[in-house]
Amino acid sequence: MIVLEFKARASKHQSGLIDEAIRTAQFIRNKALRYWMDNKGTGKSDLSKLCKLLASEFPFAKKLNSMARQASAERAWSAISRFYDNCKKGIKPVGFPKFKKFARSVEYKTSGWKLLEPKRIKFTDGFGIGELRLIGTYDLALYDPAQIRRVRLVRRADGYYVQFCIAVDVKVELEPSGNTMGLDVGLEHFYTDSNGQHQPIEVERSRNFKKFYRDSQKKRSMLQRRLSRTQKGSAHRAKARNRLARHELKVSRQRIERAKKLALCVIKSNDLIAYEDLRIRNMVKNHCLAKAIHDAGWYQFRLWLEYFGKKYGKVTVAVNPAYTSQECSDCGAMVKKSLSTRTHACECGCVLQRDHNAAINILRRGLSTVGHTGTGLLDNLNAPGDETATALDSGLLQQVTS
Ligand SMILES: [Zn+2]
Repeated sequence: MIVLEFKARASKHQSGLIDEAIRTAQFIRNKALRYWMDNKGTGKSDLSKLCKLLASEFPFAKKLNSMARQASAERAWSAISRFYDNCKKGIKPVGFPKFKKFARSVEYKTSGWKLLEPKRIKFTDGFGIGELRLIGTYDLALYDPAQIRRVRLVRRADGYYVQFCIAVDVKVELEPSGNTMGLDVGLEHFYTDSNGQHQPIEVERSRNFKKFYRDSQKKRSMLQRRLSRTQKGSAHRAKARNRLARHELKVSRQRIERAKKLALCVIKSNDLIAYEDLRIRNMVKNHCLAKAIHDAGWYQFRLWLEYFGKKYGKVTVAVNPAYTSQECSDCGAMVKKSLSTRTHACECGCVLQRDHNAAINILRRGLSTVGHTGTGLLDNLNAPGDETATALDSGLLQQVTS
C-alpha cells in the first residue's frame, strides 16, 4: 500500500464544506465509541449497524457518503481493538480509546468521489464539496482507479490535502550488498553503526544547517511569544496560532525528509539492518530521552527503514535493547557502566567506543533472530495517514503506511 498526497485548491466555501465533512466523521467515530462503552460485548458489525441508525437520526450524518460513514466507525473500532490487543499482550499503557475533539481528516472508500482529468477530484456526497484541483507532481494515471482503496481529505495548518491510498506491491530487486549493520541510537549521535561510524544528529552539519536550525528555533519562540500576547478568542489569536502551526509543520516536514533519505541510504547499502526495539511508549519514564529521540526523528527513521526494507527486499530486525551497552561485544562479559562512561573497556582487552560496542551487540542479536523481523511499529500504527507529512516536491514517491 502506498499513499500519494496532493495539495487541494479549495475555495473558502469548499473549505467550510470540507470542515463540515471532517466534523461529521468525527461525530460518527465518537458516537461509535460511546456505543461501545455503553453496550457490553459490542462488536465491529454492531458499529456498522449503528452507522445506518445515525444516518436516519441525524440529517447531517446522512450527508456523508455511506462508505465514509462506515470508515469512521472502523476508525473507532481500530482504536478499540488496539486497546484489546494491548490488554491481551500486557502492553502498558493500554491506551483506552479516547473521544476525538480536533479530528483533522475524513476518509472515503471507493465511492463518494470521482477522479477527473486533468488532476481533479470531485466529491459527490451530500456535502456538495464538488471539484478540487490537485497540486502535486505524482501521476495518478499510472494506477488503475480500482487500485485506489481510500481517499482522505486532510486539514493541515497550511491548507487541505487529498491522500490516495493505492494498493500496489512495491518491490524492487537490488543486488545484494554483502553488508550487515547494527545501529545504536544515542543522544550524542543520531546513530552509531557496527563499523564504528557515527551519524551526526544533523545530517548536514554544515555552518548553514546549524544557522538554519538556530534560526528556526528562534522563529518558533518569537511566534510563541506573539501568540501569548494576543487575546483569547480574538481573530489575532487565531492568526498567530496558525502561523506557529505552519512553522511547526514546515520543521516536521524537513525532519521527515531527512529521516527518509537516511533510511534509504542505509537500506541500499546493507542486506540486514538490526536496531533496538525502542518504543516511545516505553520511554515515558525517561522524558528527556523520549523528547531527544522524538526531536531527532528516530521514530520516523525507523518507519522508513522498515518501509524501504520491505520495498527493496532487505531484512530489518528490531532487537531487545536490554544490556546492549553493558555486554562486551568480544567475550560477552557484563561490563557495567553509567550513561556518562563513553568507553567500553573489558578485562578481555576489548576497548571500544561505547556506542560502537552496543551496535555490534545489536547486529549480533539481529543476526541470531532473523526470521522474526521487526515490523511491530507498522502493525501498531494502523495507518494514521494524516500524521505523516511529505513535502510535495520530495523526490521519493511513497509515504509509509502498512
Ligand atoms: Zn570482553
